[in-house]
Amino acid sequence: MKDYIIKDEWNVIEEGFDPQLNKISESIFSLGNGRMGQRANFEESYSGPTLSGNYVAGVYYPDKTRVGWWKNGYPEYFAKVLNATNWIGIKVQIEDEELDLAKAEVSDFKRVLNMREGYLQRSFTATLSSGKRLKVNALRFCSIANDELGAIQYQLEPVNFSADIKLTAFLDGDVKNEDSNYDEKFWDPVDTDINNEEAYLTLRTKKTNFEVCTGSFIKLLVNQQPQQFKASLTQHDKFLAQEITLNAKEKQCITLVKIVANLSSQNHPKSELLQNAKAVIAQAKTKGFEALLDAQKQAWAKKWEQSDIIIKGDVAAQQAIRFNIFQLFQTYTGKDDRLNIGPKGFTGEKYGGSTYWDTEAYCVPFYLATAPQQVSKNLLIYRYKQLGKAIENAEKLGFSNGAALFPMVTINGEECHNEWEITFEEIHRNGAIAYAIYNYVRYTGDDSYLADYGLEVLLAISRFWKQRVNWSADKNKFVMLGVTGPNEYENNVNNNWYTNYLAVWCLKYTLSVAQEVQQKRPEKYAQLLAKLSFSDAEFADWKNIVENMYFPFDDEKGVFLQQDGYLDKEQILVKDLAASERPLNQKWSWDRILRSCFIKQADVLQGIYFFEDDFDHQTIKRNFDFYEPRTVHESSLSPCVHSILAAKLNDEARAYEFYLRTARLDLDDYNNDTEDGLHITSMAGTWMSVVEGFAGMRVRDNQLIFNPFLPSKWESFSFKINFRGATLTISINAKQIRIYNASAQKLSVIIHGQPQEIAALTETEISNVTLV
Ligand code: BGC
Repeated sequence: MKDYIIKDEWNVIEEGFDPQLNKISESIFSLGNGRMGQRANFEESYSGPTLSGNYVAGVYYPDKTRVGWWKNGYPEYFAKVLNATNWIGIKVQIEDEELDLAKAEVSDFKRVLNMREGYLQRSFTATLSSGKRLKVNALRFCSIANDELGAIQYQLEPVNFSADIKLTAFLDGDVKNEDSNYDEKFWDPVDTDINNEEAYLTLRTKKTNFEVCTGSFIKLLVNQQPQQFKASLTQHDKFLAQEITLNAKEKQCITLVKIVANLSSQNHPKSELLQNAKAVIAQAKTKGFEALLDAQKQAWAKKWEQSDIIIKGDVAAQQAIRFNIFQLFQTYTGKDDRLNIGPKGFTGEKYGGSTYWDTEAYCVPFYLATAPQQVSKNLLIYRYKQLGKAIENAEKLGFSNGAALFPMVTINGEECHNEWEITFEEIHRNGAIAYAIYNYVRYTGDDSYLADYGLEVLLAISRFWKQRVNWSADKNKFVMLGVTGPNEYENNVNNNWYTNYLAVWCLKYTLSVAQEVQQKRPEKYAQLLAKLSFSDAEFADWKNIVENMYFPFDDEKGVFLQQDGYLDKEQILVKDLAASERPLNQKWSWDRILRSCFIKQADVLQGIYFFEDDFDHQTIKRNFDFYEPRTVHESSLSPCVHSILAAKLNDEARAYEFYLRTARLDLDDYNNDTEDGLHITSMAGTWMSVVEGFAGMRVRDNQLIFNPFLPSKWESFSFKINFRGATLTISINAKQIRIYNASAQKLSVIIHGQPQEIAALTETEISNVTLV
C-alpha cells in the first residue's frame, strides 16, 4: 500500500520524483480515448525503471502459447494487444548532455492528471551535471473528440544558461512487448515518409497483418512566436526523427508542439492509410493545439454531465470515484462494436488487452447507467458477432448442435486462455453473457434486442448447458462435473453452486425469452428457429434440467455449498492467517491454495448478488456470514460484490469497508501490482458499490428503486443515471434525497418502498425517509 498521490477532487497529483514509484505512476497517469491509449511514459529519454506502453485498440498478435504439453482442445495462441509505435518521443540535448531524469538532479517535479478536462501535465526543473538548469512543462492528451488524434505541448526554459539545444521529435516503431516470448518483435515495416514538419510511419503486425500509420506534425515556438526551422531528418524502416537545433537563450520559453494521428487498417483501407493520416494531420494542424485541447475539454465535460459522482466530506473518496469513472471512459467509449474492455485497458500488457467475463458481469451495469444506450448495446453486439466462433469453440471441445461456449479470454472470438482448468472449466462466463443481455433489456426496456440478437445467443448458450450437465443415477438429479467457478482457487470441482444456478437460470431465461419473441415477433422467431434447426423437444429437455438440477446445500449450516465436498476442507478463517502469508497467491504453492478452503473472489455470493430476488434476507445473511470470512479477495473483482451485499444486509460499516478496498485500489497501490497496469474492470465494481450498494439502486418492473444510506464519513453524495432517455441526478444527504429529472417526462421511482413521482425538469425533495 502506498500513500503518495495527493488528494484532490478533480486531479490526481504526484509531487516530487521517486524513480521507484515511476512504473506505478506510469499506470496511474495513463491516457486513452477508447481507440488508443498509453502509459504515462516521459516524452524525453529516461534510463530509469519504466514500462513503455502505447496501444491501439483491437490491434493484436497471436503469440505462441507456452504450453509444453499441448492437448486436444487447447488454444493455439494467446492474443495480445501490442505495444505500438511510441509517438510521444521528444529527445532533449543541451550541448553534449541529454536530458534524462534518471541522471539529472530533479526538483519541483509534479504530475497532474486533470480528470475534469482530460489531460496529463508534468512539470519539473532538472539540473544537469554541467550545472545547467532547465524547467520543463509538458501537457498531453489522447483526444476523445477525434479518437485518432493525440497531442503534446512540450515547453522548456533554460533557467541559468544560453546554449544550443537540440530537440528531436521521433516516432519509434522498433518496440516490443515486455511479455513477448523469446523477446520477439511483432511489427514489420511498411512505409516511411518524412519532411521538416511531418513524419509518417506505417507498420504491419506479423501474422495478423494489421497496419497502423502513425503520423505527426511538429511546430516550434519561442516565447509563443512560431519559428521557422530546418530539421535534420533520420529515416529508418521503423524509426523517424526530426532534429531541430536552436540557439536557446536564458529564460526563453521554447515550445515544441507535436500533434499525432494513429490510423489503423481496421478503419481505413490499407491503400489509403497514409493519405488518410495526412488528411487527419492537415485538419488538426489547421485547428491547432489550443482548439484541439478545447474540444477535449468539451468532450470530457459532456461525459461528466452524464456520469459524475459527487462525494462531499471525503476528498480521498471523491478523487477515487472520479478516477475510476475517468479510466473507464478512457478505455471504452462504445463507438465500435469490435472493441471491448481489457482488464488493464490501455495501461499495461497483463491480460493481453483481451475480453473477459468482467465486461458482462461488471462493466455493462456501469455503461448502462452512465452512457448512451448504444454503448452497452455495442458490448453485447461484440459477443453476438463472435457467436460463430463460440460455436466452433464448443465444437472443438466435443459439443454439437450449435452449442456455444464463449471464450474465457478473447479478442476476435477465439479462445486464448491456455490453462485447461480455466479454458475448459470456467464456463460460468457463458452465463455472464446471458446475464448481460437480461440486464441490458431490463435496464433499457429495449426488448427488440431479444428478437434481433439476444435470443440467438441465449439459445446457443442453453444448448451448451444442456450438453454440459449429465444425469447422475446416484443423486437422481442433473449434475455438472469438472468446473471452475469464479473462485479460481478451486479447480475441476463438481457442482459448483454458482455455475449450476447460473446454468439453470440461463435455461429458464431462454425459455421465457423464446416465448416472448414468439408472441411479439412470430416471423423473426420462426426464421431463427429454422436457421438454427431448432426443435421444440429441446425446450422439453431444458425444462427437465430446470426441474431436476442438483444444488449442493448444507442443511446444518443452511448455506449453499460452493461445490461438492467444500466442507471436507479444513475450515480456517482468513482472520486466522498470519499477515506474512498473504496474498496467498504470492506466498503459497498453488497446490496448497487448491487444497485450502480460501476463496479468491465472490463465488456463491456472486450468484446471490445476481439473483438476490430469489433469496430471503436470512438466506443471504447466512451465506454472507459463512463465505465472507473465508474470502481473501485476491481478485480485484471481489470486494465490490461483498460491499453491495453488505449494504443490502444493512451492514453499512462493512459495506463501506469493502468499498474502500476497491475505491483506491490503484491510487494507493493496494495490491502492490499497479505498476503492471490499472484494474480497469474492477473500477466498474467500485461504481457499483456506490450506486447499487450505498444508494441501493435496482431496476424492477421497468422502474428504478433506491434503498439509500449515507456512509457516516460522508456529508452527502450524488450520482447521475441515464435511464430510458432521462438523466437523473440523485443526491443523498443525512436528511433527504433529492432527485433532479432533466427529462421532459415525469418518472416514478420507489424509495425505501415508497412510490415517488419525479416531475419533469424539476428537482423533487423526498424527506420522509430515514437515511442514517
Ligand atoms: C479473476 C477473473 C478475472 C480476471 C481478469 C482473475 O484474477 O479471477 O475472474 O476475469 O482476473 O480480471
